[in-house]
Amino acid sequence: MRCNCCRAEVTQFNGQCPVCGFPMLTGGDIEIESFVRSYRENKLRGVTVYLKTYEYEPEGRSLRLVNTRYVEVAEPLSLGDGEIRWLDLPFMAIESSRPVSLDVCVRRGNDEREYTVAAVPSGTISHQAIGVTPGEGFSIQFAVGSAETYALSERVPLL
Ligand SMILES: [Zn+2]
Repeated sequence: MRCNCCRAEVTQFNGQCPVCGFPMLTGGDIEIESFVRSYRENKLRGVTVYLKTYEYEPEGRSLRLVNTRYVEVAEPLSLGDGEIRWLDLPFMAIESSRPVSLDVCVRRGNDEREYTVAAVPSGTISHQAIGVTPGEGFSIQFAVGSAETYALSERVPLL
């Protein structure tokens, strides 16, 4: 059966989901829905996602890293279902069909985890913007491109 909250496939039934800890309940009524909602809110309250950005300066014929910055991209709880929130980040507009690698940091209080995820365009996309959207279960995904054409990154776990 699937977890009602994070949708993970659960094969061993021992009372709660091994992925997110949600109690395994049967039935699909409205009460479970509101229970799922408040469980999600509790799990994700205080979670903030950051993108690590790098600033380079020309030095001779190469580039020198001058600054590393964490830019807050979203509190996952504030994202609506299926919403892609495009970020206001100064990115170079380039065309590419190569994978884009993103360094991401998930923070909750003193707990901090770093991930590197790739977005692999199926054709050529313009890297004009980066957006963020809720992923399946307790995860978040990045969109790279534009509102018309974009590639989604691998999922970033939020728990
Ligand atoms: Zn679960």
